[in-house]
Amino acid sequence: MQAVRIHSHGGPDVLRIEQLPPPPIAAGQVLVAMKAAALNHLDLWIRGGMPGVALPLIMGSDGAGIVREVGSGVTTLAPGDEVVVQPGLFCGRCAACLDGRENLCPDFGILGEDADGVQAGLVALAPANLFPKPTGLSFEEAASFGLVFLTAYQMLVKRAALQAGETILVVGGSSGVGAAAIQIASDLGARVIATAAAGDKTEFARAMGAHEVVDHYADNWHKRVLEIAGADKVQVVFEHVGAATWDQAVRTMGLGARLVFCGGTTGALVEMDLRHTFRKHLSFLGSTLGDLDTFRAVLQRFEEGRYRPFVDRLFPLEDVAQAHHYLEDRRQRGKVVLSIPESDIN
Ligand code: ZN
Repeated sequence: MQAVRIHSHGGPDVLRIEQLPPPPIAAGQVLVAMKAAALNHLDLWIRGGMPGVALPLIMGSDGAGIVREVGSGVTTLAPGDEVVVQPGLFCGRCAACLDGRENLCPDFGILGEDADGVQAGLVALAPANLFPKPTGLSFEEAASFGLVFLTAYQMLVKRAALQAGETILVVGGSSGVGAAAIQIASDLGARVIATAAAGDKTEFARAMGAHEVVDHYADNWHKRVLEIAGADKVQVVFEHVGAATWDQAVRTMGLGARLVFCGGTTGALVEMDLRHTFRKHLSFLGSTLGDLDTFRAVLQRFEEGRYRPFVDRLFPLEDVAQAHHYLEDRRQRGKVVLSIPESDIN
């Protein structure tokens, strides 16, 4: 089978398309023939060099495919089942896992970072990483949303407890996780202000459900957000951009507001004036990926048509380096997906 694998860190040239033997199926595992796999910003970080990532590594956290074979002891899946990948890894035995808070497991990890990922013709996974593909979605669409919707739903619903009628600021609304946040917030009945670059990225954020979009390359864009938000300012901020936007995002927060964050794509070090935060009773909530209950909730909403996938561009698996360039140049509006032809499986 073909797989996207790295043996060293660096630019897109370290991505290799390799012919590998099919992975062995351990007891309790399922062999899946992958049809599509998506890219995330995480792929760029891992390729560029992340501490603790063991090499060589097959890339990729998101995908969809068809069950080919099940290992001993697997009763919940059968050959022919169409599945979507849940990217979180966890032990299933600790107190957090038994309590349904799998993303707080001490052994928590992510496919394509802490274990071989899914940008390959065949992958062997535990049933906890495989869920039924929403009907009505293509494999490419089903591959596209897992990580970003899991992350954004966990942040908005489980961490920030966003309520209908609240005003939310989604920073970086044209990225994958930003667009997921806009859809989730809008579906919840919140009033959504997003930031995006002017032009087609603004149009994309609107199409995702943002009620107002502010150009985040304009000077002092937070003042425009405050004008739109009105006297109570913003109640929830969704942040994943980090250093470039943090200060202005914090300035939009009203009394008792919550800022929920992940990522930090422009840098992880930020400065804050603590006097402004405690006097306004602000909350800052970190979050990583999500639990299984959240993944089920996201799939259910795709099944109901309340959320919709946003595939920007498809690349064949062997053009993965071009796909990385495309993402790195910030040209995407939504998700970049790799299609995996039948010939890559054998
Ligand atoms: Zn655990």
